[in-house]
Amino acid sequence: MKFGGSSVGTADAMSKVANIVARHHHVQPILVVSALQGVTDALLALAEAAKNGDDVRESLIVLRKKHQEIADVFEENDVCDGLFTELEKVLAEVAAHKQLSTREQDLIVSFGERLSAPLVAAALRGSGIDAVAVDARTLIVTDDHFTSASVAFDATNEKIIATLAPIIARGVVPVITGFIGATATGDTTTLGRGGSDYSVSIIAAALEAKEIWIWKEVDGIMTADPRVVAEAALLSAISYDEAAEMSYFGAKVLHPKTMIPAVSAGIPIRMRNTFKPDAPGTVIGTRATPSPFGVKVTTAIKKLSMVTVEGKGMIGMAGFAARVLAVAGKLRVNIVMFSQSSSEQNICLVVESAGSRAFTQALEQELSLEVGMQLIDHITEQDDVAAVAIVGEEMRGKIGVAGKLFTAVADAGVNVLAIAQGSSERNISFIVHGADADRVVRAVHAAFRLHELFHKIQV
Ligand code: ASP
Ligand code: MG
Repeated sequence: MKFGGSSVGTADAMSKVANIVARHHHVQPILVVSALQGVTDALLALAEAAKNGDDVRESLIVLRKKHQEIADVFEENDVCDGLFTELEKVLAEVAAHKQLSTREQDLIVSFGERLSAPLVAAALRGSGIDAVAVDARTLIVTDDHFTSASVAFDATNEKIIATLAPIIARGVVPVITGFIGATATGDTTTLGRGGSDYSVSIIAAALEAKEIWIWKEVDGIMTADPRVVAEAALLSAISYDEAAEMSYFGAKVLHPKTMIPAVSAGIPIRMRNTFKPDAPGTVIGTRATPSPFGVKVTTAIKKLSMVTVEGKGMIGMAGFAARVLAVAGKLRVNIVMFSQSSSEQNICLVVESAGSRAFTQALEQELSLEVGMQLIDHITEQDDVAAVAIVGEEMRGKIGVAGKLFTAVADAGVNVLAIAQGSSERNISFIVHGADADRVVRAVHAAFRLHELFHKIQV
């Protein structure tokens, strides 16, 4: 079971977690927990402030109080003292050399989960459940790619079994820190934002768990963001591929890598609501809810920029796309969408707006020779665009899905800037102006009658 930040955000929420664990005690739950809600962001801000030489004392007091109040409720006295002393020391070092390495950043954010796990373990003990906090740095071995480290699975699986099996055998519930790991030489690393989902999947696969339950503050996976589409419906079952595809396309379902260990071990993932523990949630596995057009979900990723390289001289220039992509790779710019028209006169890359300016400039530099020779006419950047996608396993091989989609977009009076369909045929995505995104999502949701999916599952 993984409990996210909002499920462990307060003493009250932690008591709800304890109730859930008590109810399922007989199936030997293993817990993975995130930092308290907002704490990871607060720690990142602290790290940044320390680097800039700002006074961090006030923020530290607030952060400590948040944890101490919960510690008081569950009578867990020593945790805050030790960890905050250590955190202050690391921040002081950052302040002293006015630099923040990714290595230090990972160490600083790790305190979020290292604080929450002992508090949740104390909450369980308060409810009469024998529980112990486990620091995942003793379990998950990674490379030193700080801020989104890769897992060394052989070493990790060995450690997980060696450490956790005896605890479970004694009938004790381990409460493990999500998100963090360590290199073979002991440096603290993290698995990327939202990485606790991935942590639980890694641990479940190593221990051949029967199911993974991810407890959040929502009912499960919906056909669209309910804040955008009021009639969005809850899906009872989706496939691993659909879940992965959705995560990549902006539905903040799960950390995208979560599916990898679960699929290889054949473990279903159930998404559940901590605050409605009787609701069945959504199961991610090999079976999926059927839908008439094969479409399950429509999503939008906002705050994107579209960078276009155009020119007649690009035709037949072997290795050209590779050069463009290499620039993105070097700057570590994540490409959300990539398309090239078959006339080869245009390459379009969609990237997060945060790094788009630097990316465009680097491209101009890389291609300056071609621009000078007029092989390339221009490199342009359009900001404030959104990527809208439809996702669904059975879209594959269905005729008319794209036609229906773009008819709906046209009927909504929205102009499409670019289109891409992955050859997996599990998604079609397209670019619109940011201001059109919500309207388009509502139109597409209605056109594919996604609001009916819930009722379809019920019968
Ligand atoms: N606490 C980390 C984050 O906010 C990891 C997680 O919540 O899964 O990204
Ligand atoms: Mg979180």
